[in-house]
Amino acid sequence: MPDDSRPPLRDLPPAASLPPAGLLPDAEERARILAKAALFAPPGPTLEDGRRDLVGMTREQLAAEMAALGEQPFRARQLWHWIYHQGERDFARMSSIAKPLRERLAARYVIGRPEVAAEQQSADGTRKWLLRLRDGQQVETVYIPEEDRGAVCISTQVGCTLSCAFCHTGTQRLTRNLSAAEIVGQFLVARDAYGEWPTPKGEAARLLSNIVVMGMGEPLYNYEAVRDALRIVMDPEGIALSRRRITLSTSGVVPMMDLCGRELGVNLAVSLHAVRDDLRDELVPLNRKYPIAELLAACRRYPGASNARRITFEYVMLKGVNDSLADARELARLLKGIPAKVNLIPFNPWPGSRFETSPPAVIEAFAQVLLAAGFACPVRRPRGRDILAACGQLKTASERVRRG
Ligand code: SF4
Repeated sequence: MPDDSRPPLRDLPPAASLPPAGLLPDAEERARILAKAALFAPPGPTLEDGRRDLVGMTREQLAAEMAALGEQPFRARQLWHWIYHQGERDFARMSSIAKPLRERLAARYVIGRPEVAAEQQSADGTRKWLLRLRDGQQVETVYIPEEDRGAVCISTQVGCTLSCAFCHTGTQRLTRNLSAAEIVGQFLVARDAYGEWPTPKGEAARLLSNIVVMGMGEPLYNYEAVRDALRIVMDPEGIALSRRRITLSTSGVVPMMDLCGRELGVNLAVSLHAVRDDLRDELVPLNRKYPIAELLAACRRYPGASNARRITFEYVMLKGVNDSLADARELARLLKGIPAKVNLIPFNPWPGSRFETSPPAVIEAFAQVLLAAGFACPVRRPRGRDILAACGQLKTASERVRRG
């Protein structure tokens, strides 16, 4: 049997090109952010009946569990294959494991999933799940199908601390962070719903081909759980999603961006939305801490960014607020030299929002300025608006009901 040494992740940037972790800028600030994340920690992996959830454990943690049972390291590898390649949830069906061990495993562990509390399908095929977690908290996960592929938009926190002015989620205060299990679990639920098990081999087409970490919450404020979850989905012996198919969106937690690039190397999307600090302070209040110049400097040094792997700048088009031609010209100037593309997002209204979306002709004129400056700038087609699944619209139903 093979041993359990963890195979190298594919296509990570060569270590020699990366600064050692201790030399990354902002080490102190990063330590503060990680400490704060711990204050909003999720419940642990042990259920009320004493069994533990294997989902969300890193390979090393899984190997340690098996060692504690007196099992060889290859057992962890077998389990990993069943959980993340086959999508199996029932130990009794793990045919490569002897029956007595299957029974011991079932007595001690579960292979969990968040519970689907509600599900909605948009006229355009977008599907949204309201997921109930073990402690009763709820999050939303969205699947956005394209013709021959699709992206799962996953959440990383229950609520959000950042209160971006145009975002519905930002009106739901942060309750807690999600665990790695709850983050991976969202993708597993979506794979279950489409029956995409076992994991399609190699380059074979996948319905659920991409992950965008753009749902509820700021992922870089829950970095360690996000890192563990993404390492699980990238692992080549399980879900095996290439880091090129994963995009993490941040509103600009500058000290964590370097670490994210170094440790995960996934695609980066930045919620920019304004070209002047005074306006961005208002739209994305985190800007008061990490202003535009610092944010763009972090983008310039983001590992792996190249013309083939450009950083996406999200720019929500708000009528009369940030959509002038002068704004477009300034945006082109700011992004000069960064391998960038700009996603122009027509604002998706939600109940109580104070903005309107820019008219199509204004968006088009804005796009033309960026195009002329050499930036690709797709206008994002709103998806799932009818089920409040579009960008910035997520907010759990329980919260919506409570606040009326
Ligand atoms: S845009 Fe993102 S970071 Fe800002 S409030 Fe919404 S969920 Fe939070």
